Amino acid sequence: MKFVVLMGGPGAGKGTQAKQLEEALSLPQIATGDLFREHLRNKSELGELARTFMDKGELVPDEVTVAMVKDRLSRPDCAHGALMDGFPRTVPQAEAFERLLHEMGEQVSIAPYIHVASEVLLQRLAGRWTCKTCGHVYHVLFNPPQKEGVCDLDGGELYQRDDDTEETQKRRIEVYFKQTAPLLDYYRNKGMLAEINGEQSIDQVQNDLIEAIRNSH
Ligand SMILES: [Zn+2]
Repeated sequence: MKFVVLMGGPGAGKGTQAKQLEEALSLPQIATGDLFREHLRNKSELGELARTFMDKGELVPDEVTVAMVKDRLSRPDCAHGALMDGFPRTVPQAEAFERLLHEMGEQVSIAPYIHVASEVLLQRLAGRWTCKTCGHVYHVLFNPPQKEGVCDLDGGELYQRDDDTEETQKRRIEVYFKQTAPLLDYYRNKGMLAEINGEQSIDQVQNDLIEAIRNSH
């Protein structure tokens, strides 16, 4: 079985890569955000438990999240493993995940980290401009409008959403690196970390990921 813990900062292309990997490797992608939505929608026992914390504005404890992951891994489509996307996010979660896999006689096969320098992430994230009229999104570097500040489609004025400003994105990237550094160390110390160069084309990153995962135990 393959259990892959995929990591990458905001703007590193993790979501795109995860979707393609799911098909290429026939491993289901497991994102805890999806699990929460599903349990809340179905009003499952775990969903109702999670809701009691959310209603109080508190973080849902790791035990609840881990129980959702455990339930998910018991389904038939996980017979050959799973691709973890956004979980574990912290060292305590990684330890809990390891215990969970251990109970199944398994372990993490590999933890690929899509590495992109913070300046490049910032370039990718902070260059988005949106049309006031139609909502079309441009990027100053990757998908610029023909005329600066003007929508190609309807001549509408382009503006930068608060979320897309350099200051907001810079903080987001800093928070990610600060939170993730201990997790990277954790997997590095176990010899499970695979650093993937995320500053290549989407296809090349995908190839490197597939090769690293296929070569893992
Ligand atoms: Zn427009």
